[in-house]
Amino acid sequence: MEVTEVEAIVLESAVGTIPLSGGKGGSFDATVTPIIARIHTDEGVVGIGETFIEDPSSEKAKWVGQSIRGLSKHLVGHDPREVWDRWQEMYVHTKRTGSYLALSAIDEALWDIKGKKAGVPVYELLGGKSSEVKAYATFPYAKPIDELIEDSQWLHDKGFELMKIVVGKTHGGDIEHDKKRIREVSENVPDGFGLSCDANTSYSFPEAMAVGKTASECELGWFEEPIEHTDIEGQADLNSRLSVPISGYQTHKPHYPARDHLVADALEIYQPTLDLCGGVTAAQSVATLVEAFNKRMVPHTFGPGINYMASLHVATASPVCDLIEFAVYDDEADDPGEFVASPYVKNQGENIYVQDGGVIEPPEKPGLGLELDEDAIEEYRIN
Ligand SMILES: [Mg+2]
Repeated sequence: MEVTEVEAIVLESAVGTIPLSGGKGGSFDATVTPIIARIHTDEGVVGIGETFIEDPSSEKAKWVGQSIRGLSKHLVGHDPREVWDRWQEMYVHTKRTGSYLALSAIDEALWDIKGKKAGVPVYELLGGKSSEVKAYATFPYAKPIDELIEDSQWLHDKGFELMKIVVGKTHGGDIEHDKKRIREVSENVPDGFGLSCDANTSYSFPEAMAVGKTASECELGWFEEPIEHTDIEGQADLNSRLSVPISGYQTHKPHYPARDHLVADALEIYQPTLDLCGGVTAAQSVATLVEAFNKRMVPHTFGPGINYMASLHVATASPVCDLIEFAVYDDEADDPGEFVASPYVKNQGENIYVQDGGVIEPPEKPGLGLELDEDAIEEYRIN
């Protein structure tokens, strides 16, 4: 079996722009602008993988598309099932000057081919079902406290385990506002429903300590990316001094830096994002490292559907993962468990679906288990 062609499909975002906190500069406009790698083989088996840009700029998305095309010379003429060898060859070039987003999308497409050729879902190739995975709701709305409390009942009724809200520089760096928001929401969510918060690396260390004390008192599920992601010592310090679990890793790539975080005891929960860290291959490697240190993995999966499905296969096969993110992008939907960000995936709402009660499972189809809707691809395509 040989790769014959590597296509890059750049699409317009199908969901609106959401302001998120990010870095010390304040908030940024987040979108879900997908870039698909579609890999063809001489046997007619076609694989799809995906990454995305959290930015309305189509030029950046097109650059990722070009990067996917640029990596095709490491694939054409090779057997796509030799994923680790292909990954390592692309990684040598990616770590110097390339795009991890491109590497990630290609890796997912290679696993899709491997599963389709073998006739089994990707999670079977990764070791088989290991634990039941439930969804938690990322609710990225800068809403008033009373509206968040009202919405938490709607999410709890569906079966979500927990709701994650945004804190940090989105609110102008007002930590008193963030502390009030955490306290009032956590005190008024339904019984048995958890809350966590995400600062997207935007706090200084003293700000993170202050907000983290409130998060600890309110027994939040976790405090995500409180400070600059490269400050491993700072995260370790927060993790040892605060009872709230510190989470992170969504801004890291590939799996190698997880070693340093684990040795430093910097994080309780690891959140690799497949679209950036290097796809299925890198995320599964993070999971293996995490298992050795008795920590948890809860993958970051804010983003589009094919990447979501790849993440769900990794989560399903991992013994350290029983929870996965599910972004609720439409706060007026009848059913918050239906995925809405990828209309170019056939039957997206049925294939990517949080069941009543909160469980989410990959489909029992070979590979990743998703098909593209070609008409919708043409409608959204921008390259
Ligand atoms: Mg996050």
